[in-house]
Amino acid sequence: MPILFSALPPLLGGTLLQAPAEPTTQVASLLLDSRRVGLPEGAVFFALRGPNHDGHHHLAALYAKGVRLFVVAYPPASLVPFAGAGFIQVADTLVALQTLAAAHRAAFTGPVWAITGSNGKTIVKEWLAQLLAPDEDICRSPKSYNSQVGVPLSVWELAPGRHTLGIFEAGISERGEMDKLAAIIRPTHGIFTTLGTAHDAGFSSETEKLDEKLRLFERPGFERLVYCADQPAVHAAVQAQGLPPLAWTKLAAPGATLRFRLKPAGAGSTTVRVRLGDGATALGLALDQAALRAAARFTLPFADEPSVENALHCLAVLLWRQLDPATALDPAEIQRRLLRLHPVAMRLEMKAGRHGCYLLDDTYNNDLAGLALALDALSRQARPGGRTLILSDVLESGLNGPELYARVAALMQAHGVTRLIGVGQELSHYYQAELAEAARAHQANGARALLRLAQPDSRMAIQTYPTTEALLADLRSTDFQNETILIKGARRFGFERVVAALQQLQHGTVLEVNLDALTHNLQHYRRQLRPGTKLMVMVKAFAYGSGSYEVASLLEFQKADYLAVAYPDEGQQLRDNGISLPIMVLNPGPDSFGQLRRYRLEPEIYSLERLRDYLAATQEATADGEGPLPPLHLKLDTGMRRLGFAEDDLPGLLALLRAHRNRLPVAGIMTHLAAADDPAHDEFTREQLSTFRRMAAAIEEALGHSVLKHALNSAGIRRFPEAQFDMVRLGVGLYGVEAGRDDAQPSDLLPVSTLRTTVSQVKTLPPGATVGYGRRGAATAHERRVATLAIGYADGYDRRFGNGAGLVLLHGHRAPVVGSVCMDMLMVDVTDIPEAQPGDVAVVFGAGLDISELAARIGTIPYELLTNVSERVKRVFVSE
Ligand SMILES: *Cc1c(COP(=O)(O)O)cnc(C)c1O
Repeated sequence: MPILFSALPPLLGGTLLQAPAEPTTQVASLLLDSRRVGLPEGAVFFALRGPNHDGHHHLAALYAKGVRLFVVAYPPASLVPFAGAGFIQVADTLVALQTLAAAHRAAFTGPVWAITGSNGKTIVKEWLAQLLAPDEDICRSPKSYNSQVGVPLSVWELAPGRHTLGIFEAGISERGEMDKLAAIIRPTHGIFTTLGTAHDAGFSSETEKLDEKLRLFERPGFERLVYCADQPAVHAAVQAQGLPPLAWTKLAAPGATLRFRLKPAGAGSTTVRVRLGDGATALGLALDQAALRAAARFTLPFADEPSVENALHCLAVLLWRQLDPATALDPAEIQRRLLRLHPVAMRLEMKAGRHGCYLLDDTYNNDLAGLALALDALSRQARPGGRTLILSDVLESGLNGPELYARVAALMQAHGVTRLIGVGQELSHYYQAELAEAARAHQANGARALLRLAQPDSRMAIQTYPTTEALLADLRSTDFQNETILIKGARRFGFERVVAALQQLQHGTVLEVNLDALTHNLQHYRRQLRPGTKLMVMVKAFAYGSGSYEVASLLEFQKADYLAVAYPDEGQQLRDNGISLPIMVLNPGPDSFGQLRRYRLEPEIYSLERLRDYLAATQEATADGEGPLPPLHLKLDTGMRRLGFAEDDLPGLLALLRAHRNRLPVAGIMTHLAAADDPAHDEFTREQLSTFRRMAAAIEEALGHSVLKHALNSAGIRRFPEAQFDMVRLGVGLYGVEAGRDDAQPSDLLPVSTLRTTVSQVKTLPPGATVGYGRRGAATAHERRVATLAIGYADGYDRRFGNGAGLVLLHGHRAPVVGSVCMDMLMVDVTDIPEAQPGDVAVVFGAGLDISELAARIGTIPYELLTNVSERVKRVFVSE
């Protein structure tokens, strides 16, 4: 049942401020993020407000992108620039969004499963969808969209005529949130995964958290709750609240409906024997013993405990469905489907391809929602060179071919895809042979989009192949030049072979950069800023070793205000890759002014001589009609004694500034703290800050206007909140290292970079054998096992780590370095890690192995270890 925009004011309890030019417009999609406009037609933007952002600030930008329908909490200053757009004002835009989603949900009469709990929600949801896909047309939350805004967006996708089943996740972090999610999802069935300790901050006790979560299921018409009775608190709470249970147990818990007996079955699998528990009869469960006996034993393709636990929730659901002849399956079919369960990959990997290409390797679901998310990531890449999509047939969408591929076509167009390489029978069918005909017929659903594709002026080049093999046979990496390539295929198409053919060769060592952790750290520092304080992020030295373009691109998306690099070439490279944020250069050489102008790079100017040069250059450039040089930042030396104007230089500086007031574009005044991380020097730091205040005031007086003043680095942001001035300069903290942290306190930062390498060989050495160059791996009296790793000092692994000073993580255990570090290799002792074998992956630093601890072991600082990772080590950027 389509909802019209004109129907929204009464539904949302709002006022129509301005009617849209097209009053009968249907609400096609809900839009919350101004950076992610897909198809503007029919999209309604809800201007949400949070502690760090306000959607109302982006109305003009959205209008410019073609969005015409808005729900706001307060109107823009004037509606004049929004001709033809519809505006509805409501008291609370989040409540309005939730109300609309709830109204949409009410039109769906099929079963809806809701999943909550502390861990495993997303995996259980994805697996349940995998298991039921052959029988149902399923609408489910994309990825882990389970929040106050994620749930409305997920539920909005539910299409009454098309879907037969909904599966949605619900996640909460404080009291009162679950009632809102319950009203939107209105579950008929539920799964409670586990009660963990995550998100405890928002609750006064474990009991309160549990009660709050169970509120999801306390609704009239709720039929069945699947949970594990081996969690006594959960079992008791479900019983106390009288929720209709389907409890399973591995430990023969009394009152459980199903009893599972588990046995390891080798090769990473587990067998499950199923019996009715004593709770089944009490329920009057008609689960027929005889039928059950036939279905009494299953094999799960997992051995690790969390995966088995998640699979058992799904098995319980399948057994529940056996009660209804309409949904019952042959047990052999259940077994087949269980064996096909595969780990849920939600990663987007970004890595360098050959011939200047850049690859986005997305392994998340190849359905429409998954494709939309991946295209969104593609369209954020601003590199020059086209956007190429290598796509397989889209499976499990629940749509018929013409409608599905029309929507795919529309999505591609909205996200600026310039080249499509389609793989599969269906894609070939719809985008080649049928294209012209479908366009002519014009009556098919969404034929408009197909029509646009078929037009000769369509800027998209299309090639199709019936199979992946056919593509691989034809694939030459030289056919791709400087393109950004999204590779998105359903599992069965085996697109990892396509990725392998296009990516740069990786030797055994990879630096994995977690972009989600980077975002987390960015938000952590943002929360410490006063309103209005700008954020400059240091991406010098290859973004502290992690890769400047990718980090810069994420920072641009996350709306940092400024970037800073050490040298003009680094800035030029960012511009070449489409980065448009203001960029400051810490160390511009005297002959780089032309480059600064061409690439709009703002120099740090630290001496009178340099300032005079810059003044002369900007006058010359203006006279030549090239326009002035970019604005500059004056660097003051308040105690670092490195670069900058000292207080003694002030008279000369002020005189020059006064004389050229309107010809010297000064954007900022800055200083750098020498010891912001060390409480022992706090008095010195305060002295630096007050010198800075004094000098800056004199300079602003001479200029006749105020400019951006900035002083704090990462440690300073944490320790001197009163000195944020107009902007701060975040560095190492973004990359997950808390400078000068008191070790007793857990860090709120997440590690961003993880350096991994592989085991090339494992040897068993007899007593008396020495290891490596100079025989420095001294002989031992006992036999030992030594593994050779594919990393050495040429990769940036410090030689000081030799002879036991360093260690790596293998199978979760620490393995000390034996002997000297070689150029390309390194040996570690794995005597106590019997499972170590060639091909294993070892963590050199990062997740699980704290880089600060390693740095301390060789008397250096994490900055050095991060920036030493050499360029020959491939960077892979991952995000969910
Ligand atoms: C590197 C640098 C920073 C950032 O320092 P961190 O300790 O990494 O936060 C700030 N300002 C200047 C001038 C820098 O050179």
